[in-house]
Amino acid sequence: MKDVPMQLPMKDRFHLPEGMIYLDGNSLGPLPRDVPDHLSRMVTDEWGAHLIKAWNVDDWMGQPMRVGNQVGRLVGAPEGSITMGDTLSIKVYQALSAALQLRPDRRVILSDSGNFPSDLYMAQGLIAHLNAGHELRVVAPEEVAGAMTDDVAVAMITQVDYRSGRMHDMEGITKAAHAAGAVMLWDLAHSAGAVPVDLAASACEFAVGCTYKYLNGGPGAPAFIYVRPDLIGGIDPALSGWLGHDAPFAFEPSYRPAPDIERMRVGTPPVLQLSALEAALRVWDSVDMQHLRDRSIALSELFIAEVEARCPALTLASPRDPALRGSQVSFAFEYGYAAMQALIARDVIGDFRAPDIMRFGFTPLYLDESDVRRAVDVLADVLDNRLWDNPDYKQAGRVT
Ligand SMILES: *Cc1c(COP(=O)(O)O)cnc(C)c1O
Repeated sequence: MKDVPMQLPMKDRFHLPEGMIYLDGNSLGPLPRDVPDHLSRMVTDEWGAHLIKAWNVDDWMGQPMRVGNQVGRLVGAPEGSITMGDTLSIKVYQALSAALQLRPDRRVILSDSGNFPSDLYMAQGLIAHLNAGHELRVVAPEEVAGAMTDDVAVAMITQVDYRSGRMHDMEGITKAAHAAGAVMLWDLAHSAGAVPVDLAASACEFAVGCTYKYLNGGPGAPAFIYVRPDLIGGIDPALSGWLGHDAPFAFEPSYRPAPDIERMRVGTPPVLQLSALEAALRVWDSVDMQHLRDRSIALSELFIAEVEARCPALTLASPRDPALRGSQVSFAFEYGYAAMQALIARDVIGDFRAPDIMRFGFTPLYLDESDVRRAVDVLADVLDNRLWDNPDYKQAGRVT
């Protein structure tokens, strides 16, 4: 049941360090205030007090389905069509393998050059492992719909480009894939919790995504996988772990998949992470996704206008039309890495993606216009006074 829609932002639902402007919720969402108490109670009352009994009495076993339904409500998936677990890379592998099974006479995996490398790497690994002549065909993002030739088995596309924020037309591309007889696999890493998504309406076969970005599930939060309900019964899971078995506790010698989405589970679920996520997702009970999208566009448009007016050294690297962007804005700058370090040192947190992209995420759950204006004040100061030109800001850490 939905609560009355909330006006955004709802800053008091998050723990945000005093004075910090956090423009990186597209990479790691902040800590929702509900999480620490929930997690602490869960650890003490369930793990601590119930130990092994908690799998039944606290329904740890049902968690992946329960949380999957919570995520499903945010991406237009029917009840029972999403399960949780593992990382997004693993879920990409599972979905891709299942998609190829649906088109045994085709050999091409179509993707685009804006996709996140891990998705492409997983495809490369799967192709090598299958050793059956498959090919990963990577085209420019603008060319995806036109590249649906009749040899394409599956189109594996990330809806929102992690670098540029460019957003694909989910409905149009899915239609093009289906018209060519291809299977459609969407990666919603930068969509879930960022833009309205309607998986059921899109009729795509598969979708995957992560929950530590806009869904605020915390570092290492589990991924999700959606399989269109009419297809699940015919899928042979590539990762045939015991918790995807129809009767894990029968300990049968042979694998026999569960009849439903549970067959996409692999092994023991990350119970603590799922508990954190379950609490984090409560924030969304009162959020209207269209209102969130409107706010995201308002904040991003303000940011672009202010940066272009005050920081001429930066070049917009995202589509100018807000309808073609997700919830992030990128600017190219030759000294982008050092400039981002200078911003971070001043408590304005964005991130950097090679070779020269300064990336800013706009999450209307906890950001408003005054945050955007203050962030641009700091950015203009960094650029006008060359504050980035400091050896301390040029040392790249392991994680950028
Ligand atoms: C963030 C992201 C990933 C990360 O995968 P993990 O396995 O969770 O580390 C993969 N693909 C895309 C498109 C992403 O944006």
